[in-house]
Amino acid sequence: MPLTLIGSPRFADHVTPPGHPERPERAEVFDLVCQRWAGRNATVLAPREAGRDDLQRVHTPAYLDALDATAGRAVALDPDTFTSPDSVAIARLAAGAACQAVDAAMSGTPSLAMVRPPGHHAESGTAMGFCLYNNVAVAAAYARAVHGLAKVAVVDIDVHHGNGTQAMFYADPAVLYVSLHQYPFYPGTGGAAEIGRGTGAGHTVNVPLEAGATDADYDLACRALVVPVLEAYAPDLLLVSAGYDAHHRDPLGGMRVSTEGFATMAQHLRGVADRSSRGRIAVVAEGGYDLPALADGLEVTLEALAGPAAVPDPVHGDSARAREALAVVRAILQPLWPTL
Ligand code: ZN
Repeated sequence: MPLTLIGSPRFADHVTPPGHPERPERAEVFDLVCQRWAGRNATVLAPREAGRDDLQRVHTPAYLDALDATAGRAVALDPDTFTSPDSVAIARLAAGAACQAVDAAMSGTPSLAMVRPPGHHAESGTAMGFCLYNNVAVAAAYARAVHGLAKVAVVDIDVHHGNGTQAMFYADPAVLYVSLHQYPFYPGTGGAAEIGRGTGAGHTVNVPLEAGATDADYDLACRALVVPVLEAYAPDLLLVSAGYDAHHRDPLGGMRVSTEGFATMAQHLRGVADRSSRGRIAVVAEGGYDLPALADGLEVTLEALAGPAAVPDPVHGDSARAREALAVVRAILQPLWPTL
């Protein structure tokens, strides 16, 4: 199946302080993946900058003004989040690339936006956790506003909870947010009882996993909860916040997921998009701080997007963490999702 990749060497021009894990070398991994896949039935697009209208669907005008004012300067926005002179422009490319991934998915090709800075911690009025604009949230709001979609799902597999994405759509049943993450852990949100508010109740689904979760834990959580919720919701588009920092080699995360584990997750998501979202799937990069693990994770994700949809075989092994989390999550969500 043909794919669309969005990437650019420009993503190396967002410079973080020496020793920062979200470093420009991550963009070199993206470039290598682009080069490898350009010869393999993939179209590689250069990113376009998101417009103010795109950003303002999820961010406040005051926050956008404050970020604009950092152009040309190196600023510490929080203890972990920094700008360099080009960062705002690069971050606009990241958010724009996520919107292009939506366009590609809507025109029939699965897509992957390989971007930095990442986005899922950015809140409507706050930069945090290496994130400036919330790329996947900008993309979800773009899909609703520009493509007129009624229902968009975001599945977040980054090891950290996507507090920003959750908060932006917490009361909105038109955007389902599903997250698998290490808990308790940075940023502190993502407990099982956080399920949305008002008409959005049940449209935030958190699966908090204890540190040490394995391929078998992630497979079981996908099989038993993530996939059934997505099938019940039947989104018009599936977006994936694809962090690879649950990999066992990652310096920040405390999980034990292997590259094969990421392949299994990608197959689950590709499969459910085929069955429930007319094949529309757009993947947006988030974290992942071990460079070889990041490269391998992106590679197996693209293989799953390109290959025939197949339900992966169950992964055997220690799944105690998922079983414990799923019992809690199911008890809370079953009144709202009776098919669980
Ligand atoms: Zn992360």
